[in-house]
Amino acid sequence: MQKNVLIVGAGLGGLATALRLAKKEYKVELIEKNAQAGGRLNQLKKDGFTFDTGPSFFSMSFEFKEFARDCNIELPFKYIELDPLYTVNFSDNPKTFFLYKDIKKLAAQFKDVEPDFEERMTKYLAKSGALFHDTVDLVIKNNFDSVFSYVITLMRVNSTHIPVLFRSFWQEVKRNFTSKEAQQIVSLVAFFLGRTPFDTMAIYTLLSYTEFKHDGYYNVEGGMYKIVEGIVDELKKENVKITYNTEVVDFVGNGKTLEYLIDTKGNKWSSDVILVNADAAVFRSKVFKREKYSLEKLDKMNWTMGYLTFYIGLKTKLPQVNHHNYYLGSNYEEYANNILQNPDTLQKPYYYVNVLSKYNQECAPEGCESLFFVCPVPNLLHKPNWDDKDAIVDSIIADFSKRIDKDIAPEIISRTVYTPIDWQNQFNLHRGSGLGLSHSMNQIGAFRPANFDEKFKNVFYVGASTIPGAGLPMAIISSKLAAERIEKYVL
Ligand SMILES: Cc1cc2nc3c(=O)[nH]c(=O)nc-3n(C[C@H](O)[C@H](O)[C@H](O)COP(=O)(O)OP(=O)(O)OC[C@H]3O[C@@H](n4cnc5c(N)ncnc54)[C@H](O)[C@@H]3O)c2cc1C
Repeated sequence: MQKNVLIVGAGLGGLATALRLAKKEYKVELIEKNAQAGGRLNQLKKDGFTFDTGPSFFSMSFEFKEFARDCNIELPFKYIELDPLYTVNFSDNPKTFFLYKDIKKLAAQFKDVEPDFEERMTKYLAKSGALFHDTVDLVIKNNFDSVFSYVITLMRVNSTHIPVLFRSFWQEVKRNFTSKEAQQIVSLVAFFLGRTPFDTMAIYTLLSYTEFKHDGYYNVEGGMYKIVEGIVDELKKENVKITYNTEVVDFVGNGKTLEYLIDTKGNKWSSDVILVNADAAVFRSKVFKREKYSLEKLDKMNWTMGYLTFYIGLKTKLPQVNHHNYYLGSNYEEYANNILQNPDTLQKPYYYVNVLSKYNQECAPEGCESLFFVCPVPNLLHKPNWDDKDAIVDSIIADFSKRIDKDIAPEIISRTVYTPIDWQNQFNLHRGSGLGLSHSMNQIGAFRPANFDEKFKNVFYVGASTIPGAGLPMAIISSKLAAERIEKYVL
């Protein structure tokens, strides 16, 4: 008998699981709070410009290829390897660092500050590569039924990695590099996990291997939203229906079975199996009203930082700016130690700029440029008021203008700002935390909100706050793990 699956949320996790299950003859339907699919992987079209609103590149392209193979389709979008991966600019140094994957070209960037960089990086990457290969299949791409089975699996990981459990990312990087430039640049990737190198475990130095050696970073032809459009097209071919503007707020259960969900308009949604792509902790709190996930308890969990993002259309080109760029200040340690909690750090903000139209000309009118700024900020627990958003945005625009030696303010013809309040309200993200739950030791693997429900046997979860964690390749892995759970579930 064909089983019905209802998926709550059309983010990448929900869409990818929908396709996996539809290809296995499940009858799949999605409901989504917003007017378009994608969740955080979204798009804004305004004033003739196209902006990717969240992710601007991805790593681990092989996960997307495996997804396409599993679904027996051609990958429905084209991706392009980034080279250089990105640039880094310090406020107290006129030099721009170009981060190449080619180790010799990379080492040349550091020759003045760390002459033996090549040797040091080679050694560092060998270690982070071993960490990656010893954990990815065993720990990251696996479902765990209990804490016990998780701990047993961890015991199978090569014991040479034990020391990294007791160090921070920053400590590990400092052991390997001597110059502040190399230390800061190599540790930047910890910010991609939504925390800082100072409170991210050294296990995650495996990310350095994924960016510099193993697979690098990729951009999508036509913009990142092509990933969503491509999967939605595949879902149409499988007759999967997506109902938009539908937010689930309540439920009715019967013993160990979830009978139906209720949306804001009072409509009831029932199905044999329910897969939740909304944040796995927030949904248990707001919709299932579980004591373990009360608001007070949610606030005590470790959440990732918030993001102030803004989307700028310019009536000029910026040939001097690369595709992906980081602009750092001169007080990295002080900044990183404060950014999660102290709004004062925003007096000298660090930020990232992506020029989508650099390689995707169709994303801006002729002669124009489409810019996306991301500034890490405290989430709403630590900075609930955003009345100063325009002042912060103006200060970043002024700083950027200084660094690129061109005042862009008079060239702006489109400007949109999202604060953590917008991120919270658009996608039900707890306190506007951009990447969901952080990846601290007590919030990963079997300690993360599980991808099966504690009470209802017919409810499962997919996405950033369940296993394995945040980021686009992780959403794809999460969809595989959720689909495996659903396939094993017997009505
Ligand atoms: C600013 C920013 C930049 C990022 N950059 C990158 C990057 O460069 N590379 C990268 O790999 N990752 C990046 N990420 C992370 C990446 O976007 C996420 O990890 C990923 O998109 C999460 O997908 P998801 O399916 O778990 O959740 P979501 O995308 O959040 O999808 C969940 C969906 O559920 C819906 N929903 C929520 N509650 C309900 C409800 N009650 N009823 C109905 N629907 C509901 C939401 O509207 C949403 O559409 C970035 C994130 C942010 C915020």
